[in-house]
Amino acid sequence: MNTSSTRPRYRPYTLKNLHELPPYDVIPPHRMRDIKLAARVLPFRVSNYVVDELIDWDRIPDDPMFQLTFPQPEMIPESDFRRLRSCAASGHESVAKAVVQKIHMGMNPHPAGQMDLNVPVLDGELLSGMQHKYEETVLFFPAQGQTCHSYCTYCFRWPQFVGLDSAFRFACNDETLLPRYLKEHREVTDVLFTGGDPLVMHARLLEKYIRPLLDKKPGNLSSIRFGTKSLAYWPYRFTEDKDADDIIRLFEEIIKAGYHLTVMAHFSHDRELSTPAVETAMARIRATGAQIRCQAPLIRHVNDTAEVWSSMWKRQIALGAIPYYMFIERDTGPAGYFNVPLMEAYRIFTEAYRGVSGLCRTVRGPSMSAGPGKVLMDGVADIGGERVMILKFIQARNPAWVNQVFFAAWNPSAHWLDDLQPAFGEKSFFYDAEYRRMQDALRRRREGVAA
Ligand SMILES: *Cc1c(COP(=O)(O)O)cnc(C)c1O
Ligand code: SF4
Repeated sequence: MNTSSTRPRYRPYTLKNLHELPPYDVIPPHRMRDIKLAARVLPFRVSNYVVDELIDWDRIPDDPMFQLTFPQPEMIPESDFRRLRSCAASGHESVAKAVVQKIHMGMNPHPAGQMDLNVPVLDGELLSGMQHKYEETVLFFPAQGQTCHSYCTYCFRWPQFVGLDSAFRFACNDETLLPRYLKEHREVTDVLFTGGDPLVMHARLLEKYIRPLLDKKPGNLSSIRFGTKSLAYWPYRFTEDKDADDIIRLFEEIIKAGYHLTVMAHFSHDRELSTPAVETAMARIRATGAQIRCQAPLIRHVNDTAEVWSSMWKRQIALGAIPYYMFIERDTGPAGYFNVPLMEAYRIFTEAYRGVSGLCRTVRGPSMSAGPGKVLMDGVADIGGERVMILKFIQARNPAWVNQVFFAAWNPSAHWLDDLQPAFGEKSFFYDAEYRRMQDALRRRREGVAA
């Protein structure tokens, strides 16, 4: 679109070229030393756009955009960090590596281990690179989209970005599998391309995966979604990159083929919606006929106030986007640093929700993407003399659970579904027994295929 010589060019900063960071000297030397250590534990890559246009360097280290992208020493348990610092200072490199590994193992690298169980089977073979957990929606992880323009310090996919998991373990590079699977699974109406960030891929590669869906219209597919944080981390993806026009054309083609197209945009803070670059990018996407739906987890130190969320939702509406989900952060990585208890999340959500018009209230949350499904922390009540937390499935392994409420004993310090006990002295939640049977069946299927 813009052919001037001042066209912004993507440039990531990592540990290797951190000394070239323009505001390098703004970070006090002792803090910089600790950030470099923390970046050996947590994923670190930050785009020049985030550095130049989003971070408020007068407010570091508390600035939310800085907390979002720069690993901080406080994110690592204190005694572990002290050990790492002393090994590094005394040059004991092999010991330092072992300390990093120990810290990784202490950060719950594979929460729930359910990813494996959701891998679908086609003609007796496991389709790694796809997940099919909810009837109507398949997730597709293209192999070349398993990275991001910047990394979030809180990302639950951190094991893949720090090299603990092979990026390809859950990724697919065969564009024929998805259409074949859709043909056999007529219950699937939605495909969600996810990652990492599938929109880091070159337009040509993205097209390789999309083209078969346009040519063959397999099964009952009616919606295509791209999960992405490009609008927040590199909005020039849609306006200035060499293949930006090709991406936009591909969006137009998807819509011309009769699909609904949604960009599932990850926005963590209203500042990400404040630049001319993001405004232009969103307008360009909307002009193709695509929708933009917005979601993010609630994160301590990044977006843990009602004001941030209500401004975000209002700004999204003003830019033609649709508020979609507020998530509870999973229990992995630096969870202790980022976690917000369910009751506090509920309070923040409610305060934010009360302050906006009905157009913003398409948002749902706070929601936990747990093993049995997406569970809302939906209210508090006193029933029969007992204070209870009201939970509700908005998505579930068994469609019969969707829109069902259930009750947990009052627990203001709970962070996740696993921390909760059924209310009224009951032994289990209504779905527990069936969920266990489903898991056993999935495990048996998995073993049968692997054998
Ligand atoms: C959230 C999610 C989806 C999409 O669910 P929608 O409610 O349709 O947005 C699909 N698969 C998995 C595993 C998910 O967590
Ligand atoms: S953009 Fe998404 S996948 Fe990438 S680091 Fe952030 S949360 Fe993780």
